[in-house]
Amino acid sequence: VSKEQGRNRFHYFTASMQEAAQTKMHLINDLRSALANEEFQLHYQPIIELATGTVQKAEALLRWKHPLRGMISPLEFIPVAEETGLIIDIGNWVFHEAARQTQRWRQQHQPGFQLSVNTSPLQLRADTNSLERWRRSLKSVGLPGNALAIEITESLLMDASFAKRLVAIHAMGVEVSLDDFGTGYSSMSYLKKFDIDYLKIDKSFVANLRPGSSDLAICEAVIVMAHKLGIMVIAEGIETLEQQNLLRAMGCDFGQGYLFSHPVPAAIFEQLFEARSKPLTVTGQG
Ligand code: C2E
Ligand code: MG
Ligand code: MG
Ligand code: MG
Repeated sequence: VSKEQGRNRFHYFTASMQEAAQTKMHLINDLRSALANEEFQLHYQPIIELATGTVQKAEALLRWKHPLRGMISPLEFIPVAEETGLIIDIGNWVFHEAARQTQRWRQQHQPGFQLSVNTSPLQLRADTNSLERWRRSLKSVGLPGNALAIEITESLLMDASFAKRLVAIHAMGVEVSLDDFGTGYSSMSYLKKFDIDYLKIDKSFVANLRPGSSDLAICEAVIVMAHKLGIMVIAEGIETLEQQNLLRAMGCDFGQGYLFSHPVPAAIFEQLFEARSKPLTVTGQG
């Protein structure tokens, strides 16, 4: 490699780095105004009771419709929102919107309906006041806390202050779901220490479920363990009938995935309530 080539490669490298940094700067700027410009919306994915095939719950998933770029995935903008601290205001908006929608659906469609809301570990830090905001949202909407569940990730359980937060969350009636179980720092000691209501088996374990597979053994063990600890189990990422049948046979309580429906806007989700008495097999769109 000549000196000249080396230098060119270096220039090329910095140019693309600069471009990436610029893209991110734009993203940060646009994210700052997205709330005020009402560019966020929630989509809803049904959570199915596997024994009956009926819709009992749903997960709210945040969508950002960028004025120029169109839909941007939460996998792209949530990390940026976390880095900049914008996730606190965004997360509080998500909680309030989820509470408002849940109240409507419980009144108009299904009294026992529960919505599950994703949270960032940052929202549950002592200094962010999110819990107080959530309490006010529930009150202003007139919704009992147990109509909502928050989804947390395993990393939060290592936080020294989380035990106190968890007590405060449960005091509001809000339930707690451990998301993406098995992908993070899963430790049995956390399950012993914390009073968790639901455990969500990550979709990476569901993707290759087959009779005799190691993922099947893992799922079965997790279900048995969770039940003995009084925790209900939700399987994520169910895409095939075989996966659904295997999980149901193992006693998995709930399932979620493209087999039943993609996450959809509120107006489309409402159509699922009509089908709630019948087992939901395949819908899905966009
Ligand atoms: P998650 O909480 O684990 O959400 C499940 C993700 O799996 C969603 O992706 C959902 O669309 C997708 N999914 C559902 N069924 C299937 C399936 O059958 N197969 C496959 N391959 N995927 C499926 P999405 O909506 O892109 O969200 C990605 C992540 O972004 C979420 O993962 C969550 O960690 C985060 N997120 C979404 N909304 C929020 C929010 O309001 N607040 C925070 N803090 N994070 C959020
Ligand atoms: Mg989730
Ligand atoms: Mg998940
Ligand atoms: Mg996941």
